[in-house]
This record gives sequence, structure tokens and C-alpha cells, in this order.
Amino acid sequence: MSSIQYYMPADLVEASRILQAVEHSHVIAGGTDLVPKMKTGVLKPRALVDLSKIKDLSAIVSTPEGLYIGAMANVADLADRQSPANSYAVLRLAARSLGSPQVRNLATIGGNLCNAAPSADLATALLALDAQVEISGATGVKTVPLDQFFKGPGYTVLQRGEILTRVFVPSYMKVWKSFYLKHTIRRSMDIAVVAVAASVLWDEKSREVKDVRIALGAVAPTPLRARSTEKAIRGKILNEATITAAASEAMNECRPISDVRGTATYRRILTKVLTTRALRILAEC
Ligand SMILES: Cc1cc2nc3c(=O)[nH]c(=O)nc-3n(C[C@H](O)[C@H](O)[C@H](O)COP(=O)(O)OP(=O)(O)OC[C@H]3O[C@@H](n4cnc5c(N)ncnc54)[C@H](O)[C@@H]3O)c2cc1C
Repeated sequence: MSSIQYYMPADLVEASRILQAVEHSHVIAGGTDLVPKMKTGVLKPRALVDLSKIKDLSAIVSTPEGLYIGAMANVADLADRQSPANSYAVLRLAARSLGSPQVRNLATIGGNLCNAAPSADLATALLALDAQVEISGATGVKTVPLDQFFKGPGYTVLQRGEILTRVFVPSYMKVWKSFYLKHTIRRSMDIAVVAVAASVLWDEKSREVKDVRIALGAVAPTPLRARSTEKAIRGKILNEATITAAASEAMNECRPISDVRGTATYRRILTKVLTTRALRILAEC
């Protein structure tokens, strides 16, 4: 087996420089996606760039504009009752559903997004929160809306040398009601067969849906913002007729594949069922 260089840079400039300079170098965060891929030979990195020594990359900070979550913040911190992330139910529920306590202690939010699995729990939840990601690279720092970050299974807009540094959730989302539902084959320690993340802003007087975000996990090449489903709900009263119409729309706009966890047809039906359940729960909030 060939040797692997292991770097622990003290700042982002150095980390970025190594990733640019060394061919087949990869960021390692918690390693819960990366290491299994190395063990099975799917990935054969020549160098690993460990971000754990870079200051402030694990911070979770609530400001008047919104919540800033460092890329190295782990999932256990997001699931913690004391975390500022607790104000966003959909994110808390997604974090609590991810893996096991051991996995959550290692797994990071940055890793969950950059691994770009269609089933990534935090990715799906964050799409329903209008999240943005901050990317640092040789040309400086840029911000990208999360719904433009994913390119395909395992692929993102990140270029060689670029590092995801922070995730931003706008504070206006704090007053939206949100929920996360995930269907798995096993009760725990399993990735989603289908997941639905939903956020709703009510008009308190009329109980009309002023605005809505729906995101679907594991039913498309990337976590999917379900815009046609949102259209079927926006401006309406969330009664059984609206919920049924929206859930049918979700079933139509998802693009699942068949794999070991379920057939495409099963996933489409599940999408309808979970969307119905999530919207019924939100209608009671
Ligand atoms: C037993 C088990 C159960 C799991 N269950 C679930 C589950 O229920 N739901 C779920 O969504 N996932 C699950 N996972 C997958 C995994 O735990 C998560 O995706 C996790 O969030 C990955 O984070 P990490 O820090 O371990 O990433 P790593 O494995 O360190 O990195 C993943 C990828 O992202 C890149 N990367 C990491 N951070 C950055 C960054 N800041 N900038 C640029 N690139 C970066 C790495 O180079 C690598 O390609 C499970 C994994 C295991 C082993």
C-alpha cells in the first residue's frame, strides 16, 4: 500500500495551498464518509488535509442576521439542546436522525454537504432553510446558495483547493415552522430511503401559507428543492385538499432511482406519504 501524507495546516491559506499543490489530496474532517471510501478502495488519496487545527472552524454563532455554523462543527453539536441551531426544528431533527451517537460525534456539517450524497440529512434540511455556504480558495471567499452547491452524486461546485468554511442560515427562518421526516429500513444508523424537509411561514390571521420551502432527500441525483410542490401550497390554506395536491406534486417532481434500499416506484410513493405527513404536522403548528 502506498503511503499517504497527512497535513494539519494552521490556517485556511495553507490548507488551500496544499490542496492546490498536491495532486490527489483531499480534505479530511470527521472521516466518516472519507475513511470507508479509502478502506474499500473507492478513493486513493496521496495526501489528507486535516482541518481540525484551523481556529474557529467549529464555531456555531447566532447573530441578528442569522446562524453561522463552522464547517467543522459536528452533528452532535447541532443536535444538542443547548445549541443555537435548536431554533431551527428541521435542522435539529435531521441532525438527531443522522447515524449513531458515535458517528454524530465525528461527522461534520461540512463533510455532510461536501460528500454530496443525495440522502445527506443535513443537506436536505438546510435546503428547506434557505441556507448558503461560504467557500474559501485561492481567489478569496465567496458565498453560494445551497441549492446551487450540489452538481450530482458526490459532486459539488467546489474547485480544486477550495474549502467549505461556513454554513449560513438566515434569521428570518427562525419564525417559520419546520419539520423533518426520514424513512429508513433500520430504525437507527441508516441513511434515508426518502426524506422530506418542510418549512412554512404562516399568515397568523388568515392561516394562509405566506411562504414555504420543501426539500426532498434520496430521490434525485442531489438533495432536491421541490419548487413545484411549494407552488401548490404557497398562498393556500393548508387543508387536506391542498396537502393531497402538494404531495402528488412532490411524487411527480422527484426523480428517484432503484437501488438496494428500494425501487424508484416505492420511493415515489414514499415521497407522497412523507410529504403528506410532514404537511399535516405543520398544519397543526
Ligand atoms: C455508520 C455510518 C452511518 C451514517 N449515517 C448517516 C445518516 O444517517 N445520514 C447522513 O446524512 N449521513 C450518514 N453517514 C455519512 C456521514 O457520517 C456524514 O455524511 C457526515 O456528515 C460526513 O462528515 P465527515 O466530517 O465525517 O466528512 P469526511 O468523511 O471527513 O468528508 C467527506 C467528504 O467531504 C470532503 N470535505 C469535508 N469537509 C470539507 C470542507 N470543509 N471543505 C471541503 N471539502 C470537505 C472530504 O474531502 C470528503 O470528500 C453515516 C456514516 C457512517 C459511517
